[in-house]
Amino acid sequence: MKVPLADLQAQYLALKGEIDAAIVAVIESGSFIDGEKVQRLEREIAAFCGARFGVGVASGTDALVLSLVACGIGVGDEVITTPFTFGATTEAIALVGAIPVYVDLDLCTFNLDTSRIEQAITPRTRAILPVDLFGQMADRAVLSDICHRHGLRLINDSAQSIGATQNGQPIAVTGDTTTLSFYPTKNLGAYGDGGMVLTNDEEIAARLRSLHAHGQSSYAHHERIGYCSRLDTVQAVVLLAKLPHLTEANDHRRRNAARYNEMLADLSGSELALPGCEKGSHHIYHQYTLRHTRRDELQIFLKQHEIDSKVFYPLPMHLQPAYAYLGYQEGDFPIAERVAKEVLSIPIFPEMSDAQQKFVAETLHLFSL
Ligand SMILES: *Cc1c(COP(=O)(O)O)cnc(C)c1O
Repeated sequence: MKVPLADLQAQYLALKGEIDAAIVAVIESGSFIDGEKVQRLEREIAAFCGARFGVGVASGTDALVLSLVACGIGVGDEVITTPFTFGATTEAIALVGAIPVYVDLDLCTFNLDTSRIEQAITPRTRAILPVDLFGQMADRAVLSDICHRHGLRLINDSAQSIGATQNGQPIAVTGDTTTLSFYPTKNLGAYGDGGMVLTNDEEIAARLRSLHAHGQSSYAHHERIGYCSRLDTVQAVVLLAKLPHLTEANDHRRRNAARYNEMLADLSGSELALPGCEKGSHHIYHQYTLRHTRRDELQIFLKQHEIDSKVFYPLPMHLQPAYAYLGYQEGDFPIAERVAKEVLSIPIFPEMSDAQQKFVAETLHLFSL
């Protein structure tokens, strides 16, 4: 039985009539950038995530870059972040001329180990940039407390966690900004690139609006050097069609995760660890990520049984060639390095059938015999 890691076709077919009509309407209108649909999406997503303002941008990476710039972070400033994430997080910090400063992870959640953050603060530290990895929020309460006490900015990379909550609070309630990606495979995916910055701060929102459209204050008046980073209307109407179904899709992922937890509980032990979920955390399982001491063998075994899986992420940021100039070396972040060798994400997509999921669980048992 074939089990893919995601099935974007099934998701499209369920909404095909609505999405096709909305895309055709954009083409017929002749208005492709910004406009009323993009504004509606900004309002709806901001409300969904608990923020006052949303600014659509061209990608999740741009959402991070524009957040850093809007918070006044630039050359020589230190930004504390995680070494275990998609490359865009570190890249955004480097692109604005700031210096990524890494802190090791919590082995159970794969998120920043907040107990190690204060040791990493120096007089040059300006911000903390945590990632809500695999759909589980980093500890907002502890992070915002540290930021308040040290006068730092908090920028949440929530590219993987739209719809998650922590102690009942959605992703964008705390922090200076919270960033989203609409990359097609994200929980809320567009049909191309797209992203959004969420904030509760009116001034930051105004700066973001100016920054994402060439630094304009009004038409052809440039009050700062900005970017060309807009969300196009075709993406906005696709996202508007999908947004009302996001909670249900996330709930399917959560149901699938609960089933895996049950079906795989007996395998959990010295070789295999199931993903951890903290108390009070409403995890939306962008990925369901196991750790296994024989990870590469396991991945080949699953492939032989036509089950797709993927390693998110095989090499931590501090060991990437592009960031060698930061001067880190192997052994600096032992948990991140161990996790990179052990993690494997298995299929958890909302449209997965019961039979497919049972087959994945059985195949994992077969491997462990
Ligand atoms: C996807 C992702 C991004 C970047 O988003 P793009 O839209 O691809 O630019 C940033 N951070 C994390 C954690 C991501 O998963």
